Amino acid sequence: MKFNFEFNYTIDIQDCKLNTVLAAYNEMKTDLLNIFTQKVIEEFANEYMTHRIKPFACEQCGNNENFIWKTRHGRLTKIITILQPVFLRQLQVECKECGHKFYITRSLLGLEKRKRMSKDTIKRFGLIGALTTYRVAEKIIKMFGIAIDKMTIWRSVQKIGSEIEFNIDPDEEGRGEADGTGIPIRGIKKRGQEMKVFVQHKKGGGVRVAGLSIGKYDGGWDKLFAPLIENVKKFPKFLLVTDGDTSILKSIADKVDIIFQRCLWHIPHQMKYYLWKDKIKRKSGHWYHILGELLSICNIKSIQDENRDEIIEKIICSKEKQLEKIIEYCESNSMKSSASYLKNAKPDLFSGIRNKLNGKTTSHAERVMRTINYRINAGQWSPAGALNLNKIRLAYYYNGFDVE
Ligand SMILES: [Zn+2]
Repeated sequence: MKFNFEFNYTIDIQDCKLNTVLAAYNEMKTDLLNIFTQKVIEEFANEYMTHRIKPFACEQCGNNENFIWKTRHGRLTKIITILQPVFLRQLQVECKECGHKFYITRSLLGLEKRKRMSKDTIKRFGLIGALTTYRVAEKIIKMFGIAIDKMTIWRSVQKIGSEIEFNIDPDEEGRGEADGTGIPIRGIKKRGQEMKVFVQHKKGGGVRVAGLSIGKYDGGWDKLFAPLIENVKKFPKFLLVTDGDTSILKSIADKVDIIFQRCLWHIPHQMKYYLWKDKIKRKSGHWYHILGELLSICNIKSIQDENRDEIIEKIICSKEKQLEKIIEYCESNSMKSSASYLKNAKPDLFSGIRNKLNGKTTSHAERVMRTINYRINAGQWSPAGALNLNKIRLAYYYNGFDVE
């Protein structure tokens, strides 16, 4: 549609410094966008009213042909756009079939009923909130002239995040890793919950995220694996590297080869949680002793030698003896949770290295964990809040989620 648009503006400006000019322009463009948007929807609405079939229908009876104007200057409504908030006089029609009166402004703009923001705007706020802290996001957006509060960004993150779902892509590699990282939960001391991630290897190298869940440390693996079962079945064989509980995959056990691998990097880290459960004070003698020993047991990557394969088995044996001593130490000091955690971990602790899979398999998942931690470390979370935010974050970094 082609139409003429005139915009008349009187300005009172004190000087011609660039900052003054920009400030005046900013004020003028607020008016301009309001008036311009109002004009465009009115032009189109007038045109549509001459058509037999309208691009909107009566909310009561479904009629989409017979309407009369009620008003083109109805109640003021606010719409938040990425340029600035826009204030519009609502357009209202009356249905000639049933007499129902309703506003058509949002419908003409392509917005959902009663919504203040378009899907695209919510997506932008959601992405920026997932990439940086809510405070910084608010600051950056404000610096570019849009006054938006942290809550709006937070809500956008929840909305967009809750709509993202991950799954295995049948067209990529039949190979993946599952891993977890601690999340600081509001009201719970330390890292109260674990975020579990499933990454799938891509044909061209690299990984994509195929599953994400949050829950307790020792449970919740079923929540991660359950949605993936159908797509795992599409592969003749799927190789899964994990230290998680895979019992939910039993029904398709012939389809999955599971390499049960404790991630050495996580052992001392997770141990802090079990020490806390056993009421061992942080930075106490027990605490330093156990973590110090574990750090030395788990540090094996630095071994570089031309006879690595030969010597590695002997080193592992000595490390296993060292671990045995720590387990005894925990038991004799009534640290039940810590002892049982280490006992469970022991048989698989070095399986990855023995299989020469170490490094190669854990590096992908660890990178994804770092992506989570950069943002998650800057806050305290509710489980759902942490989950929604990281869905956007990981979708952006690994699965091609983006805005124009
Ligand atoms: Zn009607």
